[in-house]
Amino acid sequence: DAPTAWLQTTAAWPDGAALRRAHASHKGSRGDVLVIGGQSPGAGAGVGMGGAALLAGRAALRAGAGRVYVGLLAEARDLPPCDPVQPALMLRTAAAALGSELPQRAVVVAGCGGGDAIHAHLTDLLARCPRLVLDADALNALGPIAAPSASCPDVWRERHTRGWWTVLTPHPLEAARLLGTDVAQVQADRPGAARTLAKRLNATVVLKGSGSVTAAPGVTPIINGGGDGALATAGTGDVLAGLIGARLAALDATSPADTAAAVADAVAAHGDLVRHWTSPWPPTATDLIA
Ligand code: AMP
Ligand code: MG
Repeated sequence: DAPTAWLQTTAAWPDGAALRRAHASHKGSRGDVLVIGGQSPGAGAGVGMGGAALLAGRAALRAGAGRVYVGLLAEARDLPPCDPVQPALMLRTAAAALGSELPQRAVVVAGCGGGDAIHAHLTDLLARCPRLVLDADALNALGPIAAPSASCPDVWRERHTRGWWTVLTPHPLEAARLLGTDVAQVQADRPGAARTLAKRLNATVVLKGSGSVTAAPGVTPIINGGGDGALATAGTGDVLAGLIGARLAALDATSPADTAAAVADAVAAHGDLVRHWTSPWPPTATDLIA
């Protein structure tokens, strides 16, 4: 009988190859990540979460991406000159970043701290980003598209036809919103919920939480046996989104199985960050990146 899920107990990433680069490497050959999120300032839900986009960007850079751009959902005049904690990040407005050629070559990680403002960019994200990771408010913005009646809507079919791929990283509440159900139902059958979403949207889905499940169409779900409750703190999901972006940017994952395996590697690596934590005090998201 085919297994209903695989249990993943060790992280295959990072491996030695993450450090050993070909001598002729340059930053442009190591993969680009573009984070879209961080609504600030202005009105509406999500204001004050600019840090989420920075966490994702910092994590992506720390995990080996060659260049990381952060497109903030802000007016140009409100952009800070740089991220003082990680000045190597390149800050843009979300509109400028999405209007440039960047989405063509970068893995785009969208939604972290995006608030309401991400809604206005959803169509562009789906239409312009061949390699797309949707998290947090970008998932909330999807709600109506993923309604049960709309089994694999056109926009997703179009992405699939073009050979573009999408990764969704909902926590149980975000998954419940996408599935039009409640958290209890999602938690009662986590592999089932992840598979349903993956199938419905033709995407790789990470259902986060204790025992994160990675699912993709035609791929046996992978349950991560690592990580623990120490990860249950603000910002750790944004760090995961950045790690997934970096992992995918470093690979030429094309098939759903390759993409799912790469995403599961990032989930396992994220879980391993707490395995090596020695302080009696729990880590913050920033500590995980360090
Ligand atoms: P978010 O809910 O978006 O902030 O993401 C939280 C992150 O922490 C996800 O990667 C979760 O899988 C992880 N996490 C939270 N609680 C636990 C737990 N009890 N065991 C393992 N991972 C967890
Ligand atoms: Mg989150």
